[in-house]
Amino acid sequence: MTVKENLHKIQEEINAACQRSGREPDQVKIIAVTKYVTVERTQEAINAGITHIGENRVEGIIEKAGGVSGPTVWHFIGSLQSKKVRKVLENIDYLHSLDRLSLAEEIQKRWKVREPLKCFVQVNVSGEKSKSGLHPNEVITFIQNLKQYSAIEVVGLMTMAPFVEDPEDTRSIFKQLRLLQQEVQALSFKHAPCTELSMGMSNDYIVAIEEGATFIRVGSSLVG
Ligand SMILES: *Cc1c(COP(=O)(O)O)cnc(C)c1O
Repeated sequence: MTVKENLHKIQEEINAACQRSGREPDQVKIIAVTKYVTVERTQEAINAGITHIGENRVEGIIEKAGGVSGPTVWHFIGSLQSKKVRKVLENIDYLHSLDRLSLAEEIQKRWKVREPLKCFVQVNVSGEKSKSGLHPNEVITFIQNLKQYSAIEVVGLMTMAPFVEDPEDTRSIFKQLRLLQQEVQALSFKHAPCTELSMGMSNDYIVAIEEGATFIRVGSSLVG
């Protein structure tokens, strides 16, 4: 399948999910996760109209950013080691995996742009050991503590749901993330507008949209 065909199908699913949940389709942005595919396939996605590109490895994002042309917004979605911060910062617009103060500290040291880096705080809603992210109970305090880092703007929360046979089973995970987002928003922190929700992958993006996702991260069903 071409990316264009896949994108068309996904866009129809987005439209239908938005219709069901009373949302506007333009509130949902698709991040094409290109970690499994080549620079050429990534370029095909851009040519098909994709602007948001996501990678989970620093080497991957550098390779793709250096190899494609066209208007692009770069998202780092993998867990980030502090020693790789300098390299990744030169290549990204959004970080989806802020999960510790030491990482914020490192970003503060390295970020040279006047505007703060747009970050998602990663939350491990499901509690699976294999997943990174903060426990939901830690999120508010963590975000309060981020105030001291002028290089960080908390644009939203991010989670990964467990892989399950029936995506319906992930609904409560996404709902919990949205409720947590509302708690953060109620605090009206200047450094944490928290207007975005990064949730939903190939297997479960439809449910995530119904629960309020503003960024879905789609790899296998979009680009392969
Ligand atoms: C790989 C990955 C995705 C995309 O996964 P698919 O199931 O291929 O859509 C989304 N988010 C993160 C954090 C990933 O690592």
